Amino acid sequence: MATFFTGTRGTAKTTVARLLAKTLNCDKGPAPEPCNECDACVSITNGSCIDVIEMDAASHRGVADIEEVRKAVGYGPMQFRYKVFIIDEAHQLSSMPKTPF
Ligand SMILES: [Zn+2]
Repeated sequence: MATFFTGTRGTAKTTVARLLAKTLNCDKGPAPEPCNECDACVSITNGSCIDVIEMDAASHRGVADIEEVRKAVGYGPMQFRYKVFIIDEAHQLSSMPKTPF
């Protein structure tokens, strides 16, 4: 599943993405309101969750960076229910190379 968040700067797109990761991985979920107390919620809040991978596409925008993501997607979550990739500034990713004809 992929979910895209669009909007101007400072409209909480990344925060909502983290909240979505919590709702999916909360011990008491999947639930619309995460508990904010279980290991999943706490580790997502403090940025230490091994199954929620955040990537800044403004500084990691190359083909090699996305290749790393593609490899990681092939493995299931290590600790919680779902593995979540949050790709911030996705508009900065480089475009596909054009096929020469
Ligand atoms: Zn929780």
